[in-house]
Amino acid sequence: MGKPDGASKQFIDALEFRGIKRRDFLKFCGATAALLGLSELHAPKIAAALEKASKRQPVVWINFASDTGCTEALIKATYPGPAELILDILSLDYNETIMAAAGKQAEDILAKSKRAGGYILIVEGGIPTKKGHGMIGNREMLDVFKDMAGSAVAVLAVGSCATTGGVPAANPNPSQIIGVSEGLKRVNIDKPLVNLDMCPMNPEYLGGVVVNFLLLGKLPDLDQHGRPKMFYGQTIHDNCERRAHFDAGRFVEKFGSQEEAMNYCLYKMGCKGPMTYSSCPKIQYNNRTSWCIKAGGPCIGCAEPGWTDKFAGFYEKLPGVKIPGLGGVEAGADTIGAAAAVATAAGIAAHAAMTKSTGRTKDKDGGKK
Ligand code: SF4
Ligand code: SF4
Repeated sequence: MGKPDGASKQFIDALEFRGIKRRDFLKFCGATAALLGLSELHAPKIAAALEKASKRQPVVWINFASDTGCTEALIKATYPGPAELILDILSLDYNETIMAAAGKQAEDILAKSKRAGGYILIVEGGIPTKKGHGMIGNREMLDVFKDMAGSAVAVLAVGSCATTGGVPAANPNPSQIIGVSEGLKRVNIDKPLVNLDMCPMNPEYLGGVVVNFLLLGKLPDLDQHGRPKMFYGQTIHDNCERRAHFDAGRFVEKFGSQEEAMNYCLYKMGCKGPMTYSSCPKIQYNNRTSWCIKAGGPCIGCAEPGWTDKFAGFYEKLPGVKIPGLGGVEAGADTIGAAAAVATAAGIAAHAAMTKSTGRTKDKDGGKK
């Protein structure tokens, strides 16, 4: 990659200062290439793009109505991971949760960023629209949003509170909270917007969007809800490690049961995986060690817009699902499970008949029957 120029050198020094070895950084670039659906051969290109971008792309991160869980998810992510990407590679000018400045000093930084413009605006949390229900520096959050969105090059809404209001906007939504997409319409601003629905957002998704922007100079392709197709193109159910149990009609009926211990399908325990689009089973959390269903909990559908109302109660079975392969029919889980079990039994019977006719079945002592 040649001799590093000033910015690259500064970047390498910053990584070393945080105790990140070059080898780990390249490993991170390889993993990011895979995340973006590229071959590992792109890792050096990603490394070069990140080094070049070092400290040249400002980011302003604003917190509105939320529990700051997305910031927490970011700073506790893989090492090295998206946190280093944001903190070391980009210039994170403002984030109330992790910056040292407070009060007037913080307000001055925000005003300076607005004057300079050209930043990526990351929004965490929903925007209260009922007067007096959400203020920053004695200003309504909606006014702060209008100010900061106006001078941004693009807006990333991280976490479901930012995309559609999330938990704070759940019925009856006393603070009349809205998400960023609705917020942009209210303040009459048109900006490129990426929604990273989830509660909290997966920091690897954020890292992928940022790398995509730095590498290709554009935001990723989006679905109808403004979510990157590369992360929200398939349902949880499509890639779930318990799918074989669903197809065979093997369900957990009760927590604490033998079926639960055998990791059977959680559909009857309220799993919303069949109606939720996200790459959770593939990308997972915590350095790809686990995710909700692997940890034994049903998916509550937090990657879907409006999930808090749409999927309540979380432990109640979905009334019906569309099953690919059964003609896209709507059917209840009991019907599906029964149909799948019948199909499996028929398949086993057919297989047994075939193997018997070809003499491939064996008795318990290993001899052919
Ligand atoms: S219903 Fe849930 S637990 Fe069962 S296979 Fe689908 S996603 Fe996995
Ligand atoms: S598995 Fe479901 S509940 Fe868990 S993070 Fe993914 S979308 Fe949210």
